[in-house]
Amino acid sequence: MLVSAKDMLNKAKAGHYAVGQFNINNLEWTKAILLTAQELNSPVILGVSEGAGKYMTGYKTIVGMVNGMIDELGITVPVALHLDHGSYEGCLKCVEAGFSSIMFDGSHYPIDENIAKTTELVKIAAEHNMSLEAEVGSIGGEEDGVIGKGECADPNECKSIADLGVTMLAAGIGNIHGKYPENWEGLSFETLDAIQQLTGDMPLVLHGGTGIPEDMIKKAISLGVAKINVNTECQLAFAEATRKYIEAGKDLEGKGFDPRKLLAPGFDAIKATVKEKMELFGSVGKA
Ligand SMILES: [Zn+2]
Repeated sequence: MLVSAKDMLNKAKAGHYAVGQFNINNLEWTKAILLTAQELNSPVILGVSEGAGKYMTGYKTIVGMVNGMIDELGITVPVALHLDHGSYEGCLKCVEAGFSSIMFDGSHYPIDENIAKTTELVKIAAEHNMSLEAEVGSIGGEEDGVIGKGECADPNECKSIADLGVTMLAAGIGNIHGKYPENWEGLSFETLDAIQQLTGDMPLVLHGGTGIPEDMIKKAISLGVAKINVNTECQLAFAEATRKYIEAGKDLEGKGFDPRKLLAPGFDAIKATVKEKMELFGSVGKA
């Protein structure tokens, strides 16, 4: 059964570890992440972007697949199904489809509008026993042409949003999505510290987890980060393993073209990546 991310993240914040959000794209991704979480007895958050939602034909398909898989695979660790960087309309669709968690990314709105829309969604999420993630200070990425340092959120704006009653808060602290450029200046721990001082027990979320050095991840967790999003890293691992299989000509040997064989190395690579992250984040054995 899907659960809200609230309890798992409050426990993580109090216990000084972080729960991973791993974004899903299809059946192989979902199965790899759920099985790894179960094997490691770790809570887990499955992330779905609006683009991935469309790719998988819609939110209802995803809810059906994830619920079915939890049942058929005998998954007993806490699993949250979470909309990643949702629009206001996207959030409403996921509430209706049966997600257990949503993120409203109002960071591109003026702060007053972000507050107004987040306030409405706090109420809706509470009515459905769902967790809600809000974002302050946009988190850049390659597609935004961001070079070097990502944006840093205003800690006072973070407090205004946290006080609305959201479950967890994503704030820009110099992190970006996708691969980090060579000249990246690193995370701003000064900003993170200031945000935690003002938001207290609120679990903080670190987006763009791919390529952040391990010592920075650990320091971020020590300063209140309780949820870390991983997306690109699983994609890179899947692509590399699949490329090696094909380059080795294995799809041309016997029934190597069978999708269940062709996709197996990528599946194993996702499992290994998720395991590595759960160990780094400290969520192993915390289910
Ligand atoms: Zn993000």
